[in-house]
Amino acid sequence: MSLHVHKYGGTSVGTAEKIQNVAKKLVDEKNATGHDLVVVVSAMSGETNRMTDLAQLMQSAPSKKQMDVLLSTGEQVTIALLCMALEELGQAASSFTGGQVKIITDNSHSKARIEEIQTDNIQAALNDNKIVVVAGFQGVTAEGAITTLGRGGSDTTAVALAAALKADECRIYTDVDGVYTTDPRVEPKAQRLAKITFEEMLEMASLGSKILQIRSVEFAGKYNVPLRVLSTFVDGEGTLITYEDDEMEKALISGIAFNRDEAKVTLAGVPDMPGVASAILKPISEANIEIDMIVQNVAEDKTTDFTFTVHRNDYDKTLQILQNICAELGAEKVDGDNKIVKVSIVGVGMRSHAGIASQMFTALADEGINIRMISTSEIKISVVVDEKYLELAVRTLHESFGLSGE
Ligand code: ADP
Ligand code: ASP
Ligand code: MG
Repeated sequence: MSLHVHKYGGTSVGTAEKIQNVAKKLVDEKNATGHDLVVVVSAMSGETNRMTDLAQLMQSAPSKKQMDVLLSTGEQVTIALLCMALEELGQAASSFTGGQVKIITDNSHSKARIEEIQTDNIQAALNDNKIVVVAGFQGVTAEGAITTLGRGGSDTTAVALAAALKADECRIYTDVDGVYTTDPRVEPKAQRLAKITFEEMLEMASLGSKILQIRSVEFAGKYNVPLRVLSTFVDGEGTLITYEDDEMEKALISGIAFNRDEAKVTLAGVPDMPGVASAILKPISEANIEIDMIVQNVAEDKTTDFTFTVHRNDYDKTLQILQNICAELGAEKVDGDNKIVKVSIVGVGMRSHAGIASQMFTALADEGINIRMISTSEIKISVVVDEKYLELAVRTLHESFGLSGE
């Protein structure tokens, strides 16, 4: 018997009618194909944000443990409602929270990692010919505490379940009909990709495309889960995320990602001597602040400037830490800018083509966009630019690399 895992995101289950629509789709699919169906759902759209705002009214910095207890309720509402809608259509269904499945995670509250999935309870319900409905985004520690997997975590629940159940396909249903060359909300000329490689999708997700949670792509690549992104509302093939094939190498660039959550800080006039980079970065990482790009200038006058980027939420804390280091190291001054964004081009085709970087920089220069920082890897080039240029930069690059179609 073939088994499909489906995931429906927040907007797909955002109202009672939309939940009924999903129920109808599932019943039609089961009747037409006979597949076993395991369905992962998100909280109704806006709920996770609403609860986060409520928590802020209680406490300025609520514990991650209590936040997990709170936020996991959003998905619990949806599983119950979807099961009711299925039963109303005469389809037997069973709902499971993460703890009831047993999706065991580590205890890093708010960004827990899945360690193990016990499939017996799900299997028993499938054997009874039920549609299984699982709350996304949540798990439970070995000690029984509720955890969540980070924003967008229902994608990861779906892929992890598909891997554990050896599903024939994992389908991520959402409000767009696939993965596009860039976010269609920023570039209306963006085109749907029929296929994208795991590697490229992982870069796109890491560089800011929130269409899939990073960990879901990591999981799918690692366990070779056939993964497809499709629309809940219109029929179509969607986008298949798969291993690289010959045809794919023809495209130079597959997509453009961007991240608005960036800030950059500089420690200027740092004495140029061994150990300085680690003296700067160690206290930052000890404060649990993740560093993204790092640039150190070539030293002049025995001093150098050291610049790096962090998440915008960590900007103030990072500046504070740098002020202390500045005094300790006898550096000149601390500078910062939290009105910057990162724009990246991604494509496996880059590996075998020269000149992509210069094409990118020329296209941006022609529009008068100043590049503040650059970072490259085998299949991506990222630039940091002023926030006000985000849309222009994305559209310019989209056009320049021929992604806009006819
Ligand atoms: P869900 O609630 O179903 O999980 P998300 O909001 O998390 O949906 O993801 C879908 C959104 O991702 C789309 O509405 C779109 O604006 C955005 N997005 C960002 N980058 C891309 C891309 N490259 N292709 C398609 N959608 C993208
Ligand atoms: N409800 C969670 C969120 O809004 C998880 C998800 O939708 O994937 O981030
Ligand atoms: Mg999502």
